[in-house]
Amino acid sequence: MSDQSFFAAGDLISVVTAEPLDRLLDYKAPEGGCFVGAFLEVPLGPRKVLGIVWGRGQGGYDINKVRAAIRVLDVAPMTPDMRGFLERVANYTLTPMSQMVRLATRAPGLGDPPSMRKVYRRGTGEPTRETAARRKVLDALAEFPEASFTLKELADEAAVTSSVIKGLVEQGVVAEVDSPRDVPFPVLDPSLPGLKLADDQQEAADKLADGVRSGKYGTTLLKGVTGSGKTEVYMEAVAECLRAGRQALVLLPEIALTSQFLDRVEKRFGAKPAEWHSGVTMTERRRVWKMVGDGGVELVVGARSALYLPFRDLGLIIVDEEHDTSYKQEEGVLYSARDMAVLRASMCNTRVVLASATPSLETWVNADQGKYDRIDLTSRFGDAVMPDMGAIDMRSETMERNHWISPTLMKEVTARIERGEQSLLFINRRGFAPLTICRACGHQVGCDHCDARMVEHRFQNRLVCHQCGETKPIPTKCPECEVEDKLAPVGPGVERLAEEAKTRFPDARVAVLSSDLFGSARALKEQIHEIAEGEADIIIGTQLVAKGHNFPLLTLVGVIDADLGLQGSDLRAAERTFQLMRQVAGRAGRSTKKGIALLQTCQPEHPVIRAIIAGDEEGFWRAEAREREAAGVPPFGRMAGVVISSEDSAQAFDLGNAMARQTGPLQAINAQVYGPAPAPIAKVRGRHRVRLLVKADKAAPLQRALDQWAGQFKLRGSLRVAIDIDPQSFY
Ligand code: ADP
Ligand code: ZN
Repeated sequence: MSDQSFFAAGDLISVVTAEPLDRLLDYKAPEGGCFVGAFLEVPLGPRKVLGIVWGRGQGGYDINKVRAAIRVLDVAPMTPDMRGFLERVANYTLTPMSQMVRLATRAPGLGDPPSMRKVYRRGTGEPTRETAARRKVLDALAEFPEASFTLKELADEAAVTSSVIKGLVEQGVVAEVDSPRDVPFPVLDPSLPGLKLADDQQEAADKLADGVRSGKYGTTLLKGVTGSGKTEVYMEAVAECLRAGRQALVLLPEIALTSQFLDRVEKRFGAKPAEWHSGVTMTERRRVWKMVGDGGVELVVGARSALYLPFRDLGLIIVDEEHDTSYKQEEGVLYSARDMAVLRASMCNTRVVLASATPSLETWVNADQGKYDRIDLTSRFGDAVMPDMGAIDMRSETMERNHWISPTLMKEVTARIERGEQSLLFINRRGFAPLTICRACGHQVGCDHCDARMVEHRFQNRLVCHQCGETKPIPTKCPECEVEDKLAPVGPGVERLAEEAKTRFPDARVAVLSSDLFGSARALKEQIHEIAEGEADIIIGTQLVAKGHNFPLLTLVGVIDADLGLQGSDLRAAERTFQLMRQVAGRAGRSTKKGIALLQTCQPEHPVIRAIIAGDEEGFWRAEAREREAAGVPPFGRMAGVVISSEDSAQAFDLGNAMARQTGPLQAINAQVYGPAPAPIAKVRGRHRVRLLVKADKAAPLQRALDQWAGQFKLRGSLRVAIDIDPQSFY
């Protein structure tokens, strides 16, 4: 398929759409013809839908019945490597192309004519009468002679009301002009001086920059403790990419991190990059999407779906906090953004940097086997040092009922408060209490739609299902035995821990950081900023705090329940606990004050807890890799999860059993099938879920076999089958 293939009007073309049809559609090329990759508007039944020219039409039917495409849209055509990438992801994740197209066109109104907005500049007229307010407007315009302001921007800049400006427009002093909304982003300047790098940082930055300059594919693991300057270092790779005139993409796991990052980009390159995540407005999404394709964006910072933006010439992808579980999309197209970033890069001569203090085992092994380069930053920048780590053996602490902060930890927090330093108490559970139990009959309040307990959220005064999001008011009487006032919360969540901290330290300022307590990313950002400035003595947080924030006054991290993640049958339980504990501990002592991290645990002799405390990272990974290799599980073997769901539990099990019996295509590649078993979360949103696990050798053609295997079965009624290649969470 050559990019040059041009189809004259009326030629047969094959078009892929976002409609759930599972096949390409044939059309006649529109008036004026079209190239492969062009975005089209095509008729489909009574509707007009978006399509992409994928190649020559298939033919083999009455040509006169084929409809003509309506028109070519005014957006950059999809590049050959993007088309190849979407096909590879579709094949890898067993996803229909239509869904891939939807993922790759997630901006509204791509076919609309360019939308306009009013902008304001200096006009030719002079004010009839000069007032102070009018003078301010003229001064603002004189200071930025080339700029086009929106009404609000100009009013803000001049510190006047918009009616002043409107008045000047009437006199022709200010010109009001129509200007396209989808304008290019400001040019970034890589020649501005960056920070002076330390020797090891400079060496790392040079290596990454060399890689970018080579213009060839390659993946580098940039491993460094939190605070070692990974961001400063990869920023230099971005600078090199900009100098080469190519585009760069930085993926971050958490929207809350983007604003800090945007500020750093602005400091380094003099302007902000484009953003792409769920918090970006629809008009801005369209602008970013179009400008990425037109080359009007040099750097995009975004969430995992930014990987499917139509970059014209992508020279560098950074995956920051590459171990983060949010890179795995668990709904719709089930893909790992980290793995797909590497795939995309390998198809278009792009470098990838995977940055983390605690890389995933997959990445560690790839580096160990020499498939990835590896660069280590071993010390924290400047005087900051890694915190000491220790265990608090909960078996020998005297605990009161319904209290979770041990006397030892209390003492440490008190000492911090006296010194004007901050403490962080970490618990990886949102809400007030994980269980609500009736004291009269023992009933546990569950979700009506899922096989999950409802979690009390006292802040919202509701019970919430963490599975499906369903909420209901906290009942006063037991839904089972109907006795009044006997329901009681059991166990700690972040809100309950905050309550305990407030009663234990009545004079301390307590701040709670949990993703569901913030209405907006901005509110969260402000809170984080205030905490960093010292506006809290005790920070109570969930997983959210483990990610990249910088709290200079923080010198104590107390982990309330280090054993929590070690329970369960997830093959990554040990790895996850190790990463999370190291990350959380990394919050302590990030500036000049030394920090300590204390883990409350009932099993201080557990190998994972011991490895965390000893800080023996390489030892931990080596041991973990050996165990996975012996068990033939990822990354040494391949796995797929198959989740069958139905409104009818028996129907789901029947299909599961049938699939477990007729495994011909899987036997042919020596794959093993386990199950069916109820999925760990056996009911979600009213659908019963049954799971099979498939395990195969690393080199086995698993996808093809899975496709053939699943294709043998008809899906009647409400039955659905979802296949998850490389499952991350085991439900
Ligand atoms: P990481 O990404 O590894 O957590 P950062 O790049 O965020 O580390 O650096 C941690 C802190 O140290 C940041 O505030 C950063 O600005 C600062 N820092 C890192 N390297 C330097 C340097 N060479 N000069 C000045 N400050 C630095
Ligand atoms: Zn539910």
